[in-house]
Amino acid sequence: MKLTVLGYLGGYPSHGGGTSSYLLESNGFKLLIDFGSGALLSLEKVTDPLTIDAMILTHYHNDHIADVGVMQYYWQLHAERPKEAVLPIYGHREDIQHFDSLEWSGATQKVAYKPEEKLNLGPYQITFMKTHHPVTAYALRILEIKTGKILVFTADSAYFDGLIDICQDADLLITDTNFFANKVGQKWHMTTFETGRLASQANVKRLLLSHLPEIADQDRLVQETIQALNKPIQVQTAKTRLAIEI
Ligand SMILES: [Zn+2]
Ligand SMILES: [Zn+2]
Repeated sequence: MKLTVLGYLGGYPSHGGGTSSYLLESNGFKLLIDFGSGALLSLEKVTDPLTIDAMILTHYHNDHIADVGVMQYYWQLHAERPKEAVLPIYGHREDIQHFDSLEWSGATQKVAYKPEEKLNLGPYQITFMKTHHPVTAYALRILEIKTGKILVFTADSAYFDGLIDICQDADLLITDTNFFANKVGQKWHMTTFETGRLASQANVKRLLLSHLPEIADQDRLVQETIQALNKPIQVQTAKTRLAIEI
């Protein structure tokens, strides 16, 4: 499967970079994971937005859903789209107001995932784990059924030991690494140190730091993360339209 980063900043877009969004492709099936600010502009540079098969949302913070509304208009206003085609948007039902807003008549359809069950979605099987965050959010473990390859996305979360389970042996782990190692006080995201330790303990093969602070020394983010590893793991920071074969 192939991952393309559409947006990687935490909180708000800046200097041409958008917030959380990823395109995952396998065997022609195109899945969007979160759809933050700037995601639609970024997506248009990569593929036709009308060819997307499904979208899944980890939680309803604006830096993860900001462009959902304009994607709904995009689908509604493109008359060349087959009439029966609607874009399914998967979300949790623990915030009904946001969940209901995923429905846009004739354009997008809300679909509830059940976090306690695995979700079969196109070529993928997805497992969920509730994270530690001020609103209900789910980490996603995405298995490409045909190949056995695994992508894990922590979504937004403070560090907790339970994350090790869902990240175990991932071929690629995308982490919410919003803070440098010296961050003190309340943390609803992970530091470089926590991210590195998590990747080591979960024995992942490759690590992508994302949900990054706006003005960040990218080399320092990587170096701090590497210092927390106890085995060699390839570490890099997310960038707009960075593509990774998994
Ligand atoms: Zn966020
Ligand atoms: Zn959040």
